[in-house]
Amino acid sequence: MQTILTGVRVNEEPTLGNFLGAYTPMVNLSHEHAKTSNINFFVPDLHSFTTPIDHSKLYDQTIKGIKYYLAAGLDQNNPNLHVYRQSRVPAHSELAWILDCFTPFGEASRMTQFKEKGAEHPDAVTVGLFNYPILMAADILLYDAKYIPLGEDQFQHLELARNIATRMNNKFGEDLFTIPAPEKEQVKFMHLENGLRIRSLTEPTKKMSKSAENERSKILLCDDPKLAAKKIMSATTDSEGVIRFDMVNQPGISNLLVIESLLSNRDLQDVIADWSGQTSYGDLKHKVADSVMHFLSDFQERVNAISDADVEEILQKGEQYANEVANTKLRQVQKAVGLIK
Ligand code: ATP
Ligand code: MG
Repeated sequence: MQTILTGVRVNEEPTLGNFLGAYTPMVNLSHEHAKTSNINFFVPDLHSFTTPIDHSKLYDQTIKGIKYYLAAGLDQNNPNLHVYRQSRVPAHSELAWILDCFTPFGEASRMTQFKEKGAEHPDAVTVGLFNYPILMAADILLYDAKYIPLGEDQFQHLELARNIATRMNNKFGEDLFTIPAPEKEQVKFMHLENGLRIRSLTEPTKKMSKSAENERSKILLCDDPKLAAKKIMSATTDSEGVIRFDMVNQPGISNLLVIESLLSNRDLQDVIADWSGQTSYGDLKHKVADSVMHFLSDFQERVNAISDADVEEILQKGEQYANEVANTKLRQVQKAVGLIK
């Protein structure tokens, strides 16, 4: 049985970008492949403090993060669904160390997210921030996951995981790790043409990020729907004066068209055809603001209906499974590198 796996960090409140880029594809795939695949949706809680956070909130955010996964539409009754916390499966950290020693420093140094995040937090550039893509490789390789629904910003880290796995397979035998599918195949598997990148509302050349400091740049999944609508209404656009889908010259407007198509579940080309050539940016913003408001009201209602007991039950089951699978793989790797016989 193949494994589809993804995780969203809970360092901050997740955004609409996380929802559309990671939650939605995972939920869709979990239905499409319910009978034939393991669906591993985990909370990478050890990744949460690669940049500074408020640690007193982490635990509660983790539990809430799981409610978000479930509210996004996962079928809790699917026996192939596995929801777990990374920190409850020690094999992740143990494998990460081994993978560290098979990752050339130069290759890890090329990760653009490290450079970008390092520039955002110059006083807090830690070894953890540098190392996190290798822990991410362990998150994937422990479960022989082939498909990893994620946003475009994570493709470089996926490629790193593929390189590490290939290098170790060449040295220790082809059956050590399943190599995750390359970027193009991942995108096709998610039924997308390209990787998804929802843009910041205030600086639409950048992606929307939950750790961005400007609250107006991002729609949070916990935002009051009316406030979220206001953020859309004040989103940065351009002075062209005509609506066109053009990510280079009109990234703000194009971003709104993408959000509208995803939230209304309509083909992007149809949404573009509806709006192209119109001159009122305000009308488009009103439409998107309305869609965002409805989406958030429905989503938050579903989140509130999930109890802590529901979360505990699903974690207990998921973490037992994850430990069994991950420990089996870890033993295989420990054997390959000569730690055990
Ligand atoms: P941070 O700023 O803390 O890095 P983030 O918003 O980038 O937060 P991550 O936890 O790094 O979120 O990523 C979780 C998942 O969400 C990944 O699959 C990532 O590709 C996806 N994702 C993040 N931002 C976007 C976005 N703007 N558009 C589409 N997908 C996104
Ligand atoms: Mg990120």
